[in-house]
Amino acid sequence: MGLAVGVVLCACCACAAGELVFTAADTEIVVAPNPPLGTQFAARELKGFLDRVLGANVKVVTAFTPGRKAIVLGTNAWSVAAGIDMAVKPRDAFVIKAAKDRLYIAGRDPVKLDPGKVAARGRGTDQRSLARSERATAFGVYEFLERFAGCRFYFPGELGEVVPKAAAIRVPEGTVIERAPVFTQRSVSLNSPMKFQTGSAEEKMSLQLLNWIRLRLETDHLQCGHGLNSFGYASRFADTHPEYFCLRRDGQRATLKVDPNPQSQSHCVGQLCHTSDVWNEITEDVLSYFRGESGERRLGKGRHWGKNVRGVHADVMPQDGMWKCHCKNCLAVYDEGPDYADTLIWGRTCSLARRVKAEGLKGRIAQMAYRPYSKVPKMDIPDNVDVMVATAGPWTLRDEAQYEKGMREMAARHQGLRSWKEKLGRPVWLWTYPGKVNAMNMPDVPQIAPRVWGRFYQKEAPYIFGAFNEAESDSFAFNYLNFYVFSRVAWDVSVDVEALLAEHHRLMYGQGAAAMAKVFDRLEEVWLHKVVRENATTSTGGEPAYERPGPYDLLMKVYSSTLLAELDGFIQDALAAVPKDSLEARRIAFVDAEIVGPIRKRARTFQSARSVEEEMRRRAAAKSCTDIPATAKWWARIGSRVEGDAVVFNVKPSMKAMLSLKTAKVELKPNTRYRASCFLSADLNELPFLQVKKGNGLVFELSEGKSRKRLYRVSGIFGKHAREAWGFDFATESTIEEGGYFALHGYGVEGTVRLDGLCLYEVK
Ligand SMILES: [Zn+2]
Repeated sequence: MGLAVGVVLCACCACAAGELVFTAADTEIVVAPNPPLGTQFAARELKGFLDRVLGANVKVVTAFTPGRKAIVLGTNAWSVAAGIDMAVKPRDAFVIKAAKDRLYIAGRDPVKLDPGKVAARGRGTDQRSLARSERATAFGVYEFLERFAGCRFYFPGELGEVVPKAAAIRVPEGTVIERAPVFTQRSVSLNSPMKFQTGSAEEKMSLQLLNWIRLRLETDHLQCGHGLNSFGYASRFADTHPEYFCLRRDGQRATLKVDPNPQSQSHCVGQLCHTSDVWNEITEDVLSYFRGESGERRLGKGRHWGKNVRGVHADVMPQDGMWKCHCKNCLAVYDEGPDYADTLIWGRTCSLARRVKAEGLKGRIAQMAYRPYSKVPKMDIPDNVDVMVATAGPWTLRDEAQYEKGMREMAARHQGLRSWKEKLGRPVWLWTYPGKVNAMNMPDVPQIAPRVWGRFYQKEAPYIFGAFNEAESDSFAFNYLNFYVFSRVAWDVSVDVEALLAEHHRLMYGQGAAAMAKVFDRLEEVWLHKVVRENATTSTGGEPAYERPGPYDLLMKVYSSTLLAELDGFIQDALAAVPKDSLEARRIAFVDAEIVGPIRKRARTFQSARSVEEEMRRRAAAKSCTDIPATAKWWARIGSRVEGDAVVFNVKPSMKAMLSLKTAKVELKPNTRYRASCFLSADLNELPFLQVKKGNGLVFELSEGKSRKRLYRVSGIFGKHAREAWGFDFATESTIEEGGYFALHGYGVEGTVRLDGLCLYEVK
């Protein structure tokens, strides 16, 4: 999969005579009669953009018109006559060749699959068919539009497409461009909703799929991800061969056929005993597939081969989160040490691969280096095994020295993608996690990091043939530039990422580019150094463990009022530099609304709620206000004292006990909206994110009447706080109990808290 770029320019390309010039008046797109559907799609894409560039209605025809300049699309008799032989080219390759008054753009296209129509259906599952069908003429079309017409495809729609108007498109005579991607595996998650886009869910998904096509992402997906599940062992053998399944600690076999809670990620169906004869079944299944037999023969009547087998590959990765089997044989293997799963799973994988070879079959085995079998095993690995390595991915490159240190440590443990490449003597492919999943699921926080996306893949390119990026986000706007840079590097690892970003800013924001560069740079820096924090690992074999800031730190300290003002300043500078209502101005407004806007709104709401001055204003504007005097009867589990208008209580160091402080009751009216607030100063211990996530910290709440039904609470207060307003809004129902009780509890905190100005007031 080498990169093949050859641009042969005519010696006299500077003179007009040495150019092929396409204008509105004399340009036509020529396809062969009844061309493959993939070529028809390429023609529609070319026409759509050419019309916009030239301000024309360029015709798509099936025969040459004398006197016209032709852009000939697809592989056909004309392209063959022009000396373009696509049959010998690698997948996804295309050729652009200028000859006399014709420009050829040729690639291999699907005959019966129209990528545009597939995308237009707006079904997320169609990512699969797009990731498995060639459409190289369209790739050539995009290259032509980028290189010769100055177009860019950052994301579909006017704001994300750069389409400069021109009187003519000039191609130097003698131009021959031949390109193929460096990475065959070029995949990203589609789970980043286009919040800014109007229209139905299907319309939005269709744009995501179109983006997939225009970014020139993968067309030959290599599946690896708990592939053994697709063979359906639970449904086939749970009743007849319970010994095939993992023996749980409680003595039961993991023979469930249906996951009782598929959302739980418990992966409780398909956990196998890997020392059992189930591997004979696995072997027979794989051999049967490679022999070309129908799925029914092994899987049962009416069943087809699953997604784990495709082409020459069979994915035999065990179920996610592999359970330890407690059977005698497995325990004996485990006793051999911490590498048990490496020996067991890789041993089984290699035996299978050798068997495939011994049977004279062409098949290849795909297996993932994933916890707990992520280590490079000592055994020889046959050359028909392809290894996918699960690794944290781009964000870990936020500190180059730290990253290299992590890679060295992994190599010392015989782990990591570089160790695997060395062992195999051939590249691996990656499953990475630059997404907001699990602990990183922080709404509205922009995961802008195109620079490290680019650098990571450039750095690791010598060891890999591509990657799937599990890059979910709550907004596509946070991801589009990450994906764009990934796709460019996947096609050309020597691309200058800095130049790519500078070009994006220049083409998208015009004179506002310098100021907008600061927005993107600042967001990336904050994301990598303040949000994705020290526990981000480079470890192989599972999702990385990031320690993100708690909500208070995130919204008060990271996306602080200072940072938000700085970002606003850049955006105002950018807007001032471009004409009002221009496309550039609208794109800057897009960044303001869709990238900076969500976190600004969230942080400002949070910051305003914390402001003592703003709370005093809110109280002054309230209809009626009930001050709860500090001398009200408080009940304290741990020593407290009244200091003027405040209550102070403290927990001794080393005493991370729960503390409670409760007032006497307050009167509440039915059907009324209230805000309860107080001013808190605190000097408490810091709590790690995982503890905050469990609900630890200081909790301030109001509960109703005797039943102690909780009306509302604020939680997760820890660390040092200057005097800040803390409170909450709530509404009473039509019937209420006799009154409410305030309480302040501390879970896992130690230190001093001072509370004053407790107040309850009606709000509109
Ligand atoms: Zn076992």
